[in-house]
Amino acid sequence: MGKLTFLGTGTSSGVPLIGCSCAVCASNNLKDKRLRSSVWIEADGQSALIDTATDLRQQALRAGIMRLDAVFFTHHHADHVHGIDELRSFNFLQNEPIACYGKSETLERIRTHFAYIFNGKKSEGGGKPNLELRVINDTVKVGATQVTPVPVEHGALDIYGYLINRTAYITDCSKIPPLSMKLLAGLDTLILGALGLKWHNTHFTLEQALGVVKELAPQTTYLTHLNHNLGHDETSKRLPANVYLAWDGLSIDV
Ligand SMILES: [Zn+2]
Ligand SMILES: [Zn+2]
Ligand SMILES: [Zn+2]
Repeated sequence: MGKLTFLGTGTSSGVPLIGCSCAVCASNNLKDKRLRSSVWIEADGQSALIDTATDLRQQALRAGIMRLDAVFFTHHHADHVHGIDELRSFNFLQNEPIACYGKSETLERIRTHFAYIFNGKKSEGGGKPNLELRVINDTVKVGATQVTPVPVEHGALDIYGYLINRTAYITDCSKIPPLSMKLLAGLDTLILGALGLKWHNTHFTLEQALGVVKELAPQTTYLTHLNHNLGHDETSKRLPANVYLAWDGLSIDV
């Protein structure tokens, strides 16, 4: 059995938003403080991230991540990859490249956006991450834990969610195609993105996410990638049984 920790549960801007004084952004509740979305998986002494969120340094320090064997990227959007440079800290600790898995299109975008990492040149000082990009189409193991890509639609973009044993992690999503719905049948835990209350072209709203939960009927659901319209306590009161808002620092068995 493995453990999954939510390193961040916020949308691309994080919560609170810079310059916003709404009730949720001004809240003192720690569960309303959301770094950019990412999770950390630990299994049998091995450790992997899903995405390298903008806040990775802070997240790794807070969670006490001491070693990293792999990263699984969902897609190339800034909030999911901009912590990539922090991976060099793990290179320093481990003295070997870190395997970074993703869809070929995602890895191509990462290779282009972060050309300084992948240009084959030695950096003049400070060092840079030593990463091995690997296309993933099928299951990869972290310890005995199985990580399998699940194709989902994020607006016009085809991206990946991931199955971690019988738990699914699907952050940025506006539609789950029928074949993937089949892969997600009978889950122990569904982790699903629910951006907020207003319709959005690339993300499920809370209402749409609850529709998916109803269809898939997992045992437990945690909602993530949340914006500042979803105050933790107030929203939690309105959720159906066995559906919860995730929060930064929450750990679950997978
Ligand atoms: Zn995102
Ligand atoms: Zn706000
Ligand atoms: Zn995105």
